Amino acid sequence: MTTSEIIEKYISFFEKLGHKQIANASLVPENDPTTLFTSSGMQPLVPYLLGEPHPQGKRLVNVQNSFRAQDIDEVGDNRHITFFRMLGNWSLGDYFKKEQIPWIFEFVTKTLGVPAEKLYVSVFKGYKNIPKDAESEKLWTDIFVKSGLDPKERIFFYDTKNWWSRSGEPDNMPPGEPGGPDSEIFYLFDIPHDKKFGDKCHPNCGCGRFMEIVNSVFMEYQKEKDGGFKKLPQKNVDHGAGVERLLAAVENQQDVFQTSIFNPIIQAIEKITGKNYKSNSIQMRNITDHFISSVFIIDSGIYPSNKEQGYILRRLLRRGLDNFYKLEGSDPSSVIESIVEQYKKTNPELLNRYENIKNTILEEKGAYDTTLKKAKEYIFQKYKKIGDELKGKVEISADDVFFLYSSHGLSPTQIKNLGYVFDNQKFAQKMQQHQKVSRAGAGKKFAGGLADHHEKTIMGHTATHLMHQALRDVLGNHVHQTGSNITNERVRFDFNYDKKLNDEEIKKVENIVNDKIKENLSVHFEFMPLTKAKKIGAIGLFDEKYQDKVKIYFIGNYSKEFCGGPHVDFTSKVERFKIIKQENIGRGQRRLYALVGK
Ligand code: ATP
Ligand code: MG
Repeated sequence: MTTSEIIEKYISFFEKLGHKQIANASLVPENDPTTLFTSSGMQPLVPYLLGEPHPQGKRLVNVQNSFRAQDIDEVGDNRHITFFRMLGNWSLGDYFKKEQIPWIFEFVTKTLGVPAEKLYVSVFKGYKNIPKDAESEKLWTDIFVKSGLDPKERIFFYDTKNWWSRSGEPDNMPPGEPGGPDSEIFYLFDIPHDKKFGDKCHPNCGCGRFMEIVNSVFMEYQKEKDGGFKKLPQKNVDHGAGVERLLAAVENQQDVFQTSIFNPIIQAIEKITGKNYKSNSIQMRNITDHFISSVFIIDSGIYPSNKEQGYILRRLLRRGLDNFYKLEGSDPSSVIESIVEQYKKTNPELLNRYENIKNTILEEKGAYDTTLKKAKEYIFQKYKKIGDELKGKVEISADDVFFLYSSHGLSPTQIKNLGYVFDNQKFAQKMQQHQKVSRAGAGKKFAGGLADHHEKTIMGHTATHLMHQALRDVLGNHVHQTGSNITNERVRFDFNYDKKLNDEEIKKVENIVNDKIKENLSVHFEFMPLTKAKKIGAIGLFDEKYQDKVKIYFIGNYSKEFCGGPHVDFTSKVERFKIIKQENIGRGQRRLYALVGK
């Protein structure tokens, strides 16, 4: 079975159960300041899980490209990758546990043919004033009994590990926040337990003998002001399963990198480096993972840089290259080629962009090679030693490590890889001092959080719609948005235009937006068929493949734009709009930064 067959089988399984397929959202989320990448199928659906009606109905299914920067340090074990495809099905106030649990079990065992004997599950044990998820326990008990298996051996109970909310465990949830228990399926590999992870093996011990393949979240509670929990009127199911892990279960392959999707890529690395996987598995897993993620991030329109998504991409590529150089590889082109070959069935667009993707990677490699060379020269000049010949013997000061780190973008591991020795502790102290200063804001970006509904962000969001239309009025109707990012501090808006805007044009755009703010136009949305949205001239990126009904936001009669929201209800709430900066971001695109509010 291939990954594309697993995807097709899942979608059709849930379509037969009345689910509508929704589009794969962009890997780089629009208008979400708190997260750089889409990291699950649920992430773009948050407004609907919180109660807003979804235009496609109450039963949804999709496959979502997901990237988890926060898992980067897990890569190297047998089951974690940073880019994966997540299968998702949702009930928005429709079916619940008694449907979801038997369905997903049937899908895994009957449709995919994974033997029931290999499966174990986790159930919420209860925590403080929240009771055990007895319904899920009962459902699993019946299923295991029917399969001739002992439920006592199969069901494991955990407390906060089996709880989902946007803010994490129950104690961290603010009043009003929804959450609920989840129930996972684990696949057991026939390998010994690794005592490094504790005396006893269990699904969450982390040793890799058990692999989580499926997770169903049951959103059924809402936190109350007094710290208690009440049942939600609308109960939701949010289910996610990683395609690559399902493939590992189908193939009974304990190493996800040895499954049929990754194995050809590993072989390409073996071939180009002349090394074998068995003795270099950690490096080869990292190369495979980091290059795959890079390919998909570049495909989403990101270029390596020192900021935000571009920075993560740069880190991935450089880490991938470090591992590649360790194996004495020099040109990674054939690795990229094999990645595109492996994913072309599910992602045919990669074929058209192959040259662009490859060139972006090779350009970054060139920049990195220059950095490495400069770093070596710096050390050589300073220590007057013959760098290469003294590899592993040249001791450099913690200050110099920090200098290289901050000026050349090298990580301590990369500096070690160059063959230099330094005092780890002293360097860690320097880093700590530095992090204290720069911590604010940075951690949040890597956390993979959810949409920020900060007041200023919502004001900024409505302002981008006004600005989008105003830019078209001033510069012409060929101008359209190519990207945006809104935080509670500023609005960033990208559009196709290959000239610098002059002061007069900037002023005109500002004036139009401020006039519309003063007119206090009402903002509302309507669901309508895609054909109608096009007919009335709504702008924005439509997904023609899946969306027959779309959500259009209207700002008075001035702007009509395809969008998920949220927005202010009247434009006066945006208060004031000011463009503060413009940039040329290359490839015929410009970027504007603007402020909203008094
Ligand atoms: P784990 O505990 O194994 O890291 P998780 O609890 O972070 O997984 P969820 O957030 O529940 O995973 O995601 C739902 C599903 O997505 C998982 O059951 C798994 O199949 C898949 N998944 C999550 N993270 C990864 C990853 N890094 N690599 C591959 N698949 C993943
Ligand atoms: Mg999980």
